[in-house]
Amino acid sequence: MRQYADEVSPGEEATLKGWVHEVRDLGGIAFLILRDRSGVIQVKLKEEVVDEDVIEIGRNLSRESVVEVSGEVEEEERAPTGVEVLPREIEVLNSAEPELPLDPTGKVDAELSTRLDHRYMDLRKPRVQAIFEIRDVVQDALRTKFHSLGCREINTPKIVATATEGGTDLFPISYFEREAFMNQSPQLFKQMMVSGGLERVFEIGPIFRAEEHNTPRHLNEATSIDFESAFVDGEEAMEICQDVTVAAYEAVYERCQSQLEEMEVELEVPETPFEYMTYEEAIAVANESGIEEPLAWGDDLSTEAEHALGDSVGGHYFVTDWPAEVKPFYVYKDGETAAAFDMMHPRMELMSGGKREHRLDKLESEIESQGLEPEEFSYYLNAFRYGMPPHAGWGLGMERLLTTMLDLDNVREVVLFPRDRQRLSP
Ligand code: ATP
Ligand code: MG
Repeated sequence: MRQYADEVSPGEEATLKGWVHEVRDLGGIAFLILRDRSGVIQVKLKEEVVDEDVIEIGRNLSRESVVEVSGEVEEEERAPTGVEVLPREIEVLNSAEPELPLDPTGKVDAELSTRLDHRYMDLRKPRVQAIFEIRDVVQDALRTKFHSLGCREINTPKIVATATEGGTDLFPISYFEREAFMNQSPQLFKQMMVSGGLERVFEIGPIFRAEEHNTPRHLNEATSIDFESAFVDGEEAMEICQDVTVAAYEAVYERCQSQLEEMEVELEVPETPFEYMTYEEAIAVANESGIEEPLAWGDDLSTEAEHALGDSVGGHYFVTDWPAEVKPFYVYKDGETAAAFDMMHPRMELMSGGKREHRLDKLESEIESQGLEPEEFSYYLNAFRYGMPPHAGWGLGMERLLTTMLDLDNVREVVLFPRDRQRLSP
């Protein structure tokens, strides 16, 4: 039976499988450092103690070769984990070519693009592996939290006939003899499910945005954490977003201490309740802070303004009551103001949401006033004819949640194979 590096104890016979992290040859003695997903373990190749043939195999291993090592585990306080293996046998399961595309120990830094070109190798760095272990825990925690809130998980199509919100940031694709698009948001589908019997739904899935600009917080394929529920107002939907966010932090705090240590991150679970401010207050605070390009009613929050607000609040916060004109047609509007809200981290926007327009006539006129054709949305609008409850919801960016949580400088760090303006492969 195979054991992991972190679970063997002195006195045991162990069989370990993994990669050759390093071979340190000191002449009379050599050390093979074996790595598996749990960590590393030292294998001692000492003449007279270990069989000569076995030493020979060990000494000649190329880095990153895949091996199986069996032998006795002994205490050794000078070893990285306090134990070492005296190998009875070393079997090479697959040897690695001697020249590696990047250094998997992380001692030699590589550019992000080189790392992404060779993600399979990059992931062997404990620090990088830690990121994706944390991502897994976050996704698990989100599902548990949503279920505890009575949500059903749904999966909606990613190939669609019409744009969710219109606009230019769409990827067209050829769909047999027609043009179709990669969906930019599950918005319309999750709303339809609110009128369907499910009432309260969530989805964790890809969204596609043909944004041309290359920034450290934009991807062309991102993961959206979407929530939508019948019979809740904006306040309640915001509180749910806050609680879901905190649940993700708590899970990482409780279950990922070793990964956080590996990444040298001191995680603080955000304090609740998050601060609230209206859009009007937000632009006033940003303008008073002396930003270079002051904002007027109707402007989107600039990156500069987001940073000024982040500095002044110092934690997560919500911006509410947005100008109607900057928010999409499906958001509930009252005169000049939209019942929309964004959740912000001091560094960037994490979520956008709102109370939704559930009255068919208002919705149709909103679609028209945004220059879109109501007929193109008939499949969606029909759901509003036969019993659509008042509802609200939001979309939270998975990559931005993780990037800000782990204090990383680029969303690409938390995506295995990012898609951006330059990168389509691997
Ligand atoms: P921004 O203004 O920052 O470009 P947005 O307002 O266009 O974002 P929304 O349509 O509100 O984005 O999407 C909801 C959330 O999904 C965002 O707050 C963000 O966390 C995430 N998101 C949207 N687009 C992207 C993207 N291109 N890359 C990464 N995350 C994204
Ligand atoms: Mg937004």
